[in-house]
Amino acid sequence: MEHFDAAIIGSGISALSSALLFSKRGKKTAVFEQAAKIAPLLAGFDRKGFHFETGFHYSGAIGAQECGGFLFRELGIDVPVEECDSDGYDILLLQDSQREFKMPFGRKNMESRLNEFFPKESAAINKYLNLMEEEIAKSPFLNMRKRNYSNEEFLLWDGDKTAVSQVLDKCFKDDEIKTVLSFSQLLYGVPPSQCSFMFHCCCAGIMQESVWKIKGGAMTFVKAAQAALLSKGAKLFTNKKVVKISVEKNKKILFFEDGDAISADIAVSSIAPKEFIKIMPEGTYRKAAIERIQSAKDTIGFFTLYGAAKEDLRYENINSLAAAKKQDYLSDFKDAFYVNFQDKGAVCAAMSVNSEEKFWDIPKDRYIEIKERYSAELKNKISQNWSGLLDKIDFLESSAPATMKRYVNYYGAYGFKHSLDSVNIAPITNTPGLYLIGQAVVTPGLLGAMISSFLLDKIIFNRDGSK
Ligand SMILES: Cc1cc2nc3c(=O)[nH]c(=O)nc-3n(C[C@H](O)[C@H](O)[C@H](O)COP(=O)(O)OP(=O)(O)OC[C@H]3O[C@@H](n4cnc5c(N)ncnc54)[C@H](O)[C@@H]3O)c2cc1C
Repeated sequence: MEHFDAAIIGSGISALSSALLFSKRGKKTAVFEQAAKIAPLLAGFDRKGFHFETGFHYSGAIGAQECGGFLFRELGIDVPVEECDSDGYDILLLQDSQREFKMPFGRKNMESRLNEFFPKESAAINKYLNLMEEEIAKSPFLNMRKRNYSNEEFLLWDGDKTAVSQVLDKCFKDDEIKTVLSFSQLLYGVPPSQCSFMFHCCCAGIMQESVWKIKGGAMTFVKAAQAALLSKGAKLFTNKKVVKISVEKNKKILFFEDGDAISADIAVSSIAPKEFIKIMPEGTYRKAAIERIQSAKDTIGFFTLYGAAKEDLRYENINSLAAAKKQDYLSDFKDAFYVNFQDKGAVCAAMSVNSEEKFWDIPKDRYIEIKERYSAELKNKISQNWSGLLDKIDFLESSAPATMKRYVNYYGAYGFKHSLDSVNIAPITNTPGLYLIGQAVVTPGLLGAMISSFLLDKIIFNRDGSK
């Protein structure tokens, strides 16, 4: 049986980051991915000469002088980024007033845009943005480069339990501004009534100061990470689904669906917690913890259409067009949808769907019927809001939460739902040498998933993350 110092389960951004950190320390490292390709969520797919991004559009705080830039350098990889337009990187069409709110970044830009649209809320806008800044300053992970915090401080951090909707209701009278300020819940998939304001600030707050795209898309990161890993002698395996982990004399034995097995001193799981508890060794969690994870929900899912633009559809440098009604934040954005313009005419249109809805293990004709229904609904929403846009796109492919399940082994767009009543998924388990990383541990998103790997590195090697 082949033996590794560190075996990483999954190959998303957290797994690749973790593998790079172990390799950097000279550890014999291997990555095991159940899907047919490395980083299936970030790798996207190609159809008819178009490349479609599936798990990354943009991120805040990944510029060279920001947290993400610092992490890329620490990983030893070059990830070129380009800044989006600070005057507006997305457009949110406010359906009630038929106004287009261009989402800017930078405190000054945001404050003046909000004042321009909602002059009666001026004092509240200032107060709300101050509140956000205070929360962001408290967040240990966003300050990872600057602050010297202990592991305990990080692990105890679970934020305030005030819901985003409560804070919005306290600050504002106008429902339209509340909708604008909470629409970014689509970036992490937890509706405003179920998400803590602190968590919202960590996810949406990183888009306050800067918004960046990766040149060449998410595959630039994946390719750079893969090349760096191979150059360090790490091994990357695809079609290797881990179905069981056991412990023998402190060694973690990973058993795969194809009958193979390997051993490792350290095993790190980046997979969804609900899947992890199915394969973990006995005693890794207490019964109550297992029950809490079993009952945890997935985030919202997306039904997505992928298409090719028949002509240039770029709207003034913006990435996405979205539309919302002023009461939408109250109904948890059940009808949220957007159209995202990607490189070289690739377009993706998505609407939020309940990921818990039955999409899996159903007869094929029923599945096709559901997809056709959603497809018609989404097209209808697009044509009602942007007349003529639909005619300019050739739709080539669609995906539902069942597609997510096939590629990444969970249904919700962001997997584990970090809601007000959810448990905190810690990196350490009761099995020595068995750890957790990924979007369930810190936050969803490129940065949150990467940070979980740095956090683990710090925990295992007791390193000060600020150095
Ligand atoms: C539509 C969409 C758009 C997004 N847009 C953005 C964006 O613009 N910006 C941003 O920052 N973030 C975005 N995200 C979120 C971001 O992509 C994720 O939060 C992040 O990539 C998660 O990384 P991870 O390593 O935690 O998990 P994953 O990438 O999900 O990695 C887990 C891996 O484990 C594998 N696996 C599961 N079970 C097993 C098993 N038993 N054995 C072996 N392997 C297994 C899975 O196949 C998967 O590859 C988006 C997500 C979606 C769905």
